[in-house]
Amino acid sequence: MNTDQIQSLKQELSTPKKIVIVPHKNPDGDAVGSVIALYGYLIQSGHKVNMISPNDFPTFLKWMEHSDLFLNYEQEEKKADLLIKEADFIFNMDHNAFHRAGHMERILGEVHATYVMIDHHQQPDDFATYTYSDTAMSSTCEMVYHFLEMLSDTDKITPAMATAMYTGILTDTGSFKYRSTTSTTLRVAANLVDKGANSEAINRKIYDVNTPSRMKLLGVALNNMVILEKYRTAFITLTQKELDANNFKKGDTEGFVNYALGLDGVVFAQILIEKESESIIKTSLRSKGDFDVNKLARDNWEGGGHKNAAGGKSDLSMIDTVKKLISILPHYEKELHEVVI
Ligand code: 5GP
Ligand code: MN
Repeated sequence: MNTDQIQSLKQELSTPKKIVIVPHKNPDGDAVGSVIALYGYLIQSGHKVNMISPNDFPTFLKWMEHSDLFLNYEQEEKKADLLIKEADFIFNMDHNAFHRAGHMERILGEVHATYVMIDHHQQPDDFATYTYSDTAMSSTCEMVYHFLEMLSDTDKITPAMATAMYTGILTDTGSFKYRSTTSTTLRVAANLVDKGANSEAINRKIYDVNTPSRMKLLGVALNNMVILEKYRTAFITLTQKELDANNFKKGDTEGFVNYALGLDGVVFAQILIEKESESIIKTSLRSKGDFDVNKLARDNWEGGGHKNAAGGKSDLSMIDTVKKLISILPHYEKELHEVVI
């Protein structure tokens, strides 16, 4: 977004508008955090703001202030459709294509609101009047901070907004671990602490809220882990049966794939999770160094994301999906061996 566009957007937002803010489907900390932070900003100017999520999000994100105000599109489609049809502005946060909003894709394609996209994923679609897309950014939450900087409005950051942004930066950087974490990211995080984000409390509420059944499921996942040294790869499977046997709740498998990536020498990790209700296997891919899982997910798993973290799906059975995963690897053998870590 250039200076002219920022000025024009600032001008448009100087009078009260009807605004809808949307995260991607299966919202993570960055998606929920960026939506809540933007919500906190916009309501200060008297806008009528609604947050609509394509589906529910995990309990470990529900402590955030205003997280109870989200409309869940899966449960309140009619009401949400009405709000979307009436909206002057629709902000698309942490996604850059309508299909990433699940079943909301149809309605988003139909209405003629002014779209604002704030996102850090690759290959953005060209639907928004105002597009703030930067794939070098650690997180959409960091971008919200920069967005407020561009609007000269960082003084409007409340503790709740700071907390939401800090949460998204924390979760999308793997606790400031990934190489998307720049010195600017750390400066933004520090500023957010100054504005009321409590790092210790946020970490505790995100990471120290395991249930015994999640821990047991992690045990199953680690037991199922397969290491393919030849390809510097490790993968994990979890069937619906295994999820059911361990009282699976949304969000319980978050981060499991990182255990596979955490193996010394492994540069590519993938988890396959059966989702019987949708007749799919949902998959998450992670990598170290220059191995591009965004490309691998796009080319093989109907998905995408970032270079080092992507997702996708398979319509095959678990057994056939595992076979597919293994059959893909020889095509990447050279690339996998060239990764320097
Ligand atoms: P996760 O594996 O945690 O679900 O997602 C990792 C990254 O890939 C996130 O940035 C997420 O937005 C993106 N992602 C996950 N699933 C998909 C998908 O099916 N399609 C695309 N394009 N991106 C995805
Ligand atoms: Mn993100």
